[in-house]
Amino acid sequence: CSQSVLPWFKNVPRFADKVALNDTNGSYTYENIFLSAKELAEDISKKMEGKTNERILFMCPNNVNYVISLWAIWMSGQVAVPLSPHHPQNLLLYYINDSKPEMLISSPSFKEISSGLAKSTHTKLLVLDDNMELNCSKQKAQTNNDFEDRLPQSFYEKNDALIIYTSGTTGSPKGVVSSHRNLSAQVGMLLEAWKWSFNDAILHTLPLNHVHGVVNALLCPLTAGAKIKMLPKFDTKSVWNYLLGIDVKPDIRDINIYMAVPTIYFQLIDYFDRVFSNDEKMKRHILNTLQTKLRLMVSGSAPLPQTVFQRWLEISGHELLERYGMTEIGMCLSNPYGSKREAGFVGNPLPGVTVRISQKDDNENFLPLVEGSNIDGKVNINISENADGENPSGHLLVKGEAVFKEYFRRPEATKKEFTEDGFFITGDICQYNTEKKLFKILGRESVDIIKSGGYKLSALQIETQLMNNPDIKECAVVGLPDDKWGERVAAVVVLQNGKSMTIDDLKSWADGNMPKYSTPSVLKIVEAIPKNNMG
Ligand code: ATP
Ligand code: MG
Repeated sequence: CSQSVLPWFKNVPRFADKVALNDTNGSYTYENIFLSAKELAEDISKKMEGKTNERILFMCPNNVNYVISLWAIWMSGQVAVPLSPHHPQNLLLYYINDSKPEMLISSPSFKEISSGLAKSTHTKLLVLDDNMELNCSKQKAQTNNDFEDRLPQSFYEKNDALIIYTSGTTGSPKGVVSSHRNLSAQVGMLLEAWKWSFNDAILHTLPLNHVHGVVNALLCPLTAGAKIKMLPKFDTKSVWNYLLGIDVKPDIRDINIYMAVPTIYFQLIDYFDRVFSNDEKMKRHILNTLQTKLRLMVSGSAPLPQTVFQRWLEISGHELLERYGMTEIGMCLSNPYGSKREAGFVGNPLPGVTVRISQKDDNENFLPLVEGSNIDGKVNINISENADGENPSGHLLVKGEAVFKEYFRRPEATKKEFTEDGFFITGDICQYNTEKKLFKILGRESVDIIKSGGYKLSALQIETQLMNNPDIKECAVVGLPDDKWGERVAAVVVLQNGKSMTIDDLKSWADGNMPKYSTPSVLKIVEAIPKNNMG
């Protein structure tokens, strides 16, 4: 990005009295949290006996303890590895055994589970004080020196910051090591592109062990001096209340940003349809309030169905800003902040990122078809002579300071995912629409691109087409191995209440609504589509 946000704590004195975070227990200023973190950092440093750049796992609920722990780990010169307390025991053990931490920090509420984990893996344990929240809210600086960081900027410039595990969609989760510089670039580009300011207040309902919840929805506001209203977890009714300012204390009625995954918007729409749809006055109130109160509503982490984009626009007056990113790169493509957003597209490169759409040649080398960059907010797109046809598509590659350093202790895996000229191979297939001048994600090469009878079909596009069937509430499309076709298209479908469907019904609807070659030949009706904790 054009501007580095390092060191993390330079703006704390400026925002000292401002509320940084409000959770179910109360409000905490930047000063409160900084001083608590500094105290905890002293404890950590003592226990670490002079070692730095070591991994510390921490397990906290979505409340102020999470931020205190993260900042303290950084201030003591260590690498933070956030764990979700909602993960099953075997996954927690996987993370510990894989990242081999020096220490595990746990909030008091997870003392029992973390003691067990620490014992079985011979890891040092530090359980946060029972009164951490209370003490935090009383912290006050005595002198200006209290605001000084324990570490010099040069430390952050050179060292690692965070290991976040990938979601494990395509294999075992991989520990993604990002340096402070990588993270700083990831945050800086979003501050610039989405115009974060200290007047902002975000409603935070995302898991805190994923790039979306950590970088976009937590580090961005903390760096901008904004306010975070953190809920313990996503809950449809509470989110509606906070967005509308109903039954909410006056000091947090100013929420103007919300970020979520498509499933969450889907659930909010479902609630709206059940609770408000016959109340015309309330519907007008919702439209009015969301339009005037909210300045930014973001969707990402998975493809946003066009039906959800459209319906949310009708309800809220907001075109959801869809962006594309990964644990390994932070965010990379985003729809514009200040102008029209197109459903089904992920916009253009963010500041400081260079993207390529490439085709593999016979020797497995990547030939660039399209290259896009963003320098100081100006997008440049170059279409190569190799790109024949209207809308070139191929492997999405990314380069920039935001791109992670390595997979933890997996040098081979790291090497395999980079081209010789330093581009990270995302594993996603992307298309550039030359008419709209926008990028579109077609899906993961390994699972979303169905190779059937010589066609390469995008599961995501077939899902989009199927969602036009009014009887379908939700669907997922996959390729099944097939002797004749290579793979054939199978649809897993959740139906609207009271509806039924056979494969023949689906085929006759599809005739005229979607191409024959992408029409599913296998249909499975399910009650719900299983999802990971990012939805
Ligand atoms: P693993 O790497 O372990 O298989 P994962 O790739 O699901 O897991 P994440 O880093 O959490 O782990 O997810 C990144 C992926 O999410 C991207 O590679 C892409 O496939 C998908 N994704 C993110 N945003 C979008 C979007 N707007 N549209 C389509 N896909 C998206
Ligand atoms: Mg991945």
